[in-house]
Amino acid sequence: MKEYWNDNDFSRNTRHKKRKRHTPHGFTLILCCCLTAVILAFGLTVNHIPPAADTQPDAHLSENIVTNTDFDTSLAADEQSITDETAWCLILVNKWNHIPEDYEADFTELANGQLVDTRIYPALQEMLDAARSDNVYPVVVSGYRTVEKQQSLMSEKIAAYKAEGYSDAAAVFKAETWVAVPGTSEHQLGIAVDINADGIRSTGEEVYKWLDQNSYKFGFIRRYPADKTEITGVIDEPWHYRYVGIDAATEIYNQGICLEEYLNKIN
Ligand SMILES: [Zn+2]
Repeated sequence: MKEYWNDNDFSRNTRHKKRKRHTPHGFTLILCCCLTAVILAFGLTVNHIPPAADTQPDAHLSENIVTNTDFDTSLAADEQSITDETAWCLILVNKWNHIPEDYEADFTELANGQLVDTRIYPALQEMLDAARSDNVYPVVVSGYRTVEKQQSLMSEKIAAYKAEGYSDAAAVFKAETWVAVPGTSEHQLGIAVDINADGIRSTGEEVYKWLDQNSYKFGFIRRYPADKTEITGVIDEPWHYRYVGIDAATEIYNQGICLEEYLNKIN
């Protein structure tokens, strides 16, 4: 609004300048002196106006733009604040959408040393507690990964395929079906976790089934269902859970869609 009012001041002074140009020349000396004094006064004021009228032909257009921008910005700010509450947990990362280079988050360390985004920690803990109260014992085996960690997982996988006799290109191709290319893994966000069974009190099958049926209540989705591999670009991973918030998770679960389909719907 500050700029808007400055523009109004500017317009007012512009009008005064025009009046000066239209002043008749046959007036009395006294009147001329008065006008000279007035002009000088305005001249001093004009010195404090940043843009000159003649070099600002679109001053009124600019003013309108500023005014509209103020209005739109306030709307956008409202939308932004709504979006901001969910944007972080609805960020799309897949082989076609890389993690923003400036992505930052705070992390919380789990008892076993894995890190997760601090914002998902309470929901994750609640989900794990709920599973245990149903006599299902999950373990988070992988949380946040640095780009270096993701790269080393990729290198290990490529080396393993080469050791099996695959060519360099074939090994890379095979590895990329199992390991996300660095920059495209949700683990680099810290809002995705791989969950296995503890191997003693529960089997993987029991844990995956419980998560599949209950995770949405805590805001998590089974990110890579078997029937969505063409859309997600990732093979069936019953252990990989991703936080999206309870509303999105519930809709995704109820409609049997994947995150890409959900985001397509709401955008
Ligand atoms: Zn995973």
